[in-house]
Amino acid sequence: MPEEKTVLVVEDEKNIVDILRFNLERKGYRVLEAYDGEEGLRKARTEKPDLILLDIMLPKMIGFDVCEALRKDGDNVPILLLTAREEEDDKVRGLEIGADDYITKPFSMREVIARVEANIRRTSMAAPTGAAADSAMPVAGDLAINTDSHQVFRAGKAIDLTQREYELLTFLASHPNKVYSRVDLMEQVWNYGYVGDDVRTVDVTVRRLREKIEADPASPVYILTRRGAGYYFSVS
Ligand code: CA
Repeated sequence: MPEEKTVLVVEDEKNIVDILRFNLERKGYRVLEAYDGEEGLRKARTEKPDLILLDIMLPKMIGFDVCEALRKDGDNVPILLLTAREEEDDKVRGLEIGADDYITKPFSMREVIARVEANIRRTSMAAPTGAAADSAMPVAGDLAINTDSHQVFRAGKAIDLTQREYELLTFLASHPNKVYSRVDLMEQVWNYGYVGDDVRTVDVTVRRLREKIEADPASPVYILTRRGAGYYFSVS
C-alpha cells in the first residue's frame, strides 16, 4: 500500500472545491481545503502537502503571491495553478514565478486527475547534506547530479530546483546531445498524453532552468536550443 498523498486545494468557489475533493478522494488522495490565499499559504507551510491546486483569483492574497512566497521559502512542492482565463500572460507569469503547470477552467476532472498524477512527487526529496555533494555524479562542465537525493550542484554548490525542473534536466542530461521537441518533452517528462498549446510550458521551464544552472542564461552552455527542432543537453 503506497503512502497516502495529500493534495491541498486552494480555491474560493465551494462547488469547485467539493468536486475536486470528491474526485481526488476517490483516487485515494487525502484532501485539504483553503478558501483564501492566506489560509492556503498557512496550510501549505504547516501541513506540507504533496501537491497544491492553487486558484489565481483568491480573496486576501492572490495565487501568484502564494506561489511566490512558497518558492521563496525554498519549498519545491508541485503547484498547479487553476486559471479561469485563457490569457497567455497569466500562464507564463505563473510558470515564471515557479508554478509547475496550470489548468484552465472549466476543466474536466479527467484532466485534473491526470495532471495531479503526472505532477505529484513520486519520491520525497532528501534533506540537503554535505555527503550529497560528494556523491553527486558529474554530468558536464561544473554540473553534478545526485540522483539519490535529487539534488543538482554547480561547482559544488546545491541549486534549488522544482521537481519538474529536476526531471527535465535529468532527462535531457541522460540523453546527451539528443534533440527533443517540445511535444516529446511534454510526453516524456511531463507524462502528458494530450498536448495542445501547452508546449509553451516547456519553453518557460527551460528558461527557468537555465536561469538556475547556467552562468549566463542568455548564452547557455548546457541546455541548448536547436531552432525549429527542440532542446538538447550539450556535451562536447
Ligand atoms: Ca477564484
